[in-house]
Amino acid sequence: MSKVIAINAGSSSLKFQLFEMPSEDVITKGLVERIGLTDSVFTISVNGEKVTEISDIPDHGLAVKILLSKLIDLGIIESFDEITGIGHRVVHGGEKFNDSVLITDEVIEQLVELSELAPLHNPANIVGIKAFKEILPNVPAVAVFDTAFHQSMPEKSFLYSLPYEYYEDYGIRKYGFHGTSHKYVSERAAELLGRPVEQLRLISCHLGNGASIAAIEGGKSIDTSMGFTPLAGVAMGTRSGNIDPALIPFIMEKTGKSADEVLEVLNKRSGILGVSGFSSDLRDIESAATEGNERAKLALEVFASRIHKYIGSYAARMFGVDAIIFTAGIGENSDTIRARVLQGLEFMGVYWDPALNKVRGKEAFLNYPHSPVKVIVIPTNEEVMIARDVQKLAL
Ligand code: ADP
Repeated sequence: MSKVIAINAGSSSLKFQLFEMPSEDVITKGLVERIGLTDSVFTISVNGEKVTEISDIPDHGLAVKILLSKLIDLGIIESFDEITGIGHRVVHGGEKFNDSVLITDEVIEQLVELSELAPLHNPANIVGIKAFKEILPNVPAVAVFDTAFHQSMPEKSFLYSLPYEYYEDYGIRKYGFHGTSHKYVSERAAELLGRPVEQLRLISCHLGNGASIAAIEGGKSIDTSMGFTPLAGVAMGTRSGNIDPALIPFIMEKTGKSADEVLEVLNKRSGILGVSGFSSDLRDIESAATEGNERAKLALEVFASRIHKYIGSYAARMFGVDAIIFTAGIGENSDTIRARVLQGLEFMGVYWDPALNKVRGKEAFLNYPHSPVKVIVIPTNEEVMIARDVQKLAL
């Protein structure tokens, strides 16, 4: 028996989940928010109850110290020795990492080099890794990458039709993200279908604040909607998804914004927020649409129609599809988005039952039994994938 902690460090936050392994039972979970600001918030669940404390936590090092000492103070563990492994989510593994890896000093150096590709995310992940390393230097730590699962994409999928030397010289290519989630739901779908993943063609729709679609053939990602960065693909909560690249200089000229400022608009003020004009949260949009708000209805249509198109495109790409999977906040909970995405797909063998589509937040098939293509809701679990990789590589 051992305890493994899965960590997801962001620029001002640190999420954690402590697992008993190999049983995969969740002992506790929580998060630290507003790191580096005043009134930082530490939340941890103890016996199903949330405990919250507010204090100033200036850096990730202190956040880790507080988290670990709380585990002891609250009687969740008796000593740090009980923690036998740490798993860190790392956003970008570039072309170097096609799987999770035991973290060494050399790996940390490589992650620093990769920060050029993910300047918003990798530095925060590295700060989290270093903070744990300082406090628990002898506990093995593993990096689990968002990009790794998509490293199986063939060149025809990952290459942009740009001068080839841009790929060679600068690493400009599609990397894809949410890989840990797409991998988890594809493996789980195979279990639920009772068929080996090697025999399946799956389309996985990870629909949260960030959203991406993946074509998974024989257990391997062969294409995905996100690209060089997580800005590409379908419309998202605040991200535009794919747009005509010529719009960037055009918007710069019209608005007087710099390239960075336009990028900020594409990342933070577009997508569902941009189209609706009032919220990036799908629940707000759904209730406003029910009350007749036209822009909210439009945001729903824009969001769902892009996903619908990707499904057709990826079915063509794999010469068919065995199952379509919905996961993450919207995919797991929103029957209205699922209904719009699946609408009219009977031509390609997707027959789904509106009564089954009412499900929220749990595993369920939405298809009629005779449907050639199955439709499955699977709550994602990136944390358990991280804990499994720690178990595999470090214990
Ligand atoms: P993140 O990418 O931040 O992890 P999540 O996977 O938590 O995001 O998804 C957040 C999105 O899920 C939000 O748009 C939220 O409105 C939506 N969502 C969560 N619960 C529901 C629900 N019951 N019905 C509709 N949408 C929901």
